[in-house]
Amino acid sequence: MPAPAAIYVHIPFCPYVCPYCDFAKWPYRQSWAERYLDALEAEILAAPQLAGTSLFLGGGTPNTIPAERLVALVRRLRTRFDLEPDAEVTLEVNPDRALCEAFEAYRAAGVNRLSIGVQSFERQELQTLGRRHDASDVAEVTARARAAGFADLSFDLIFAVPGQTLASWQASLDAAIRLEPDHVSTYGLTIESGTPFAAWHACEPGAFVEQDLEAEQYEASIERLTRAGFEHYEISNFAKPGHRSRHNQNYWRNGEYLGLGVGAASFLRGTRSVHTRDLGGYVRAALAGEPIPGTSERLDGPARVGEATMLALRTAEGVDLQAFRERYQIDFLASYDAPIRALEGAGMLEVTPTHVRLTHGGRFVANDVCSEFIA
Ligand code: SF4
Repeated sequence: MPAPAAIYVHIPFCPYVCPYCDFAKWPYRQSWAERYLDALEAEILAAPQLAGTSLFLGGGTPNTIPAERLVALVRRLRTRFDLEPDAEVTLEVNPDRALCEAFEAYRAAGVNRLSIGVQSFERQELQTLGRRHDASDVAEVTARARAAGFADLSFDLIFAVPGQTLASWQASLDAAIRLEPDHVSTYGLTIESGTPFAAWHACEPGAFVEQDLEAEQYEASIERLTRAGFEHYEISNFAKPGHRSRHNQNYWRNGEYLGLGVGAASFLRGTRSVHTRDLGGYVRAALAGEPIPGTSERLDGPARVGEATMLALRTAEGVDLQAFRERYQIDFLASYDAPIRALEGAGMLEVTPTHVRLTHGGRFVANDVCSEFIA
């Protein structure tokens, strides 16, 4: 029986490049995209036999690819990895009206969830982020998605945008809630080295949101979205009941996944590997049938448990003590006695008879808390 795994496919082309973005991405060019899709097909052919549990096409902006090619790719992946008819199939889309005219075709190919890169509803913030859509585009694209039969829509929103206030962030949250998505992801802007935003930050740090305001914005996300009926099920993710992302839950449970495409990451049989972010290098290797250049590391023993802890602590359930005992053969409370006591004493962790999880306060410093379990 093929082993189960979530399948991720990276489509690295965008209609334009945003100044804060650190993903593997390039402006769309038809000739590049065609060669890339050929390379992807070669990698799909050579991939290990796995039973796909979910499929996620991310980027980049997958809906820059011509609809017929994208539809063919989805159908190909569903067959190749033997996905169940009701498996979650997510497509990331940019809410540019011109790129959102094939929702019926995506739906017919088996895509059942759209993750829409909304980012903000405020014109000035969208301009700062280099985005070319506006609030009316998001409303129109959402309506088109519903009309095409999508029952699972997720919005991505960004806080801590330069110039953003608490009130303008709250206005974006409220605008999102009014459009009734089933899922919302809220991310604090991070300054990634090598991006235009990093250069701007180096010249003018005062233009960027301070930590206290960022914390208030995060608090506002939790308050407004939970009041609107969303479950805060992971640090950055909120879902209406029954609409959690199955694909991402597999990551947080430290499940296996296969990543295809430039810069994509995989975790299979205890080894984590990441493909090169060199587009030419990826395409050449895939078309030649050679191993894709990149890095890989074996995660064994404490490294594996540390990784699993970090991922589990991001979720509302936290570390399931029984599941950790069965999967990693460890008594979690005994193995991490010192950091658990210290973090519980500091009000960052809550320990129950069955779980260890972040407190409300712990969610604001999650990276610091998690790092205590990585060493
Ligand atoms: S559209 Fe998304 S992936 Fe593309 S450049 Fe902008 S942020 Fe990056």
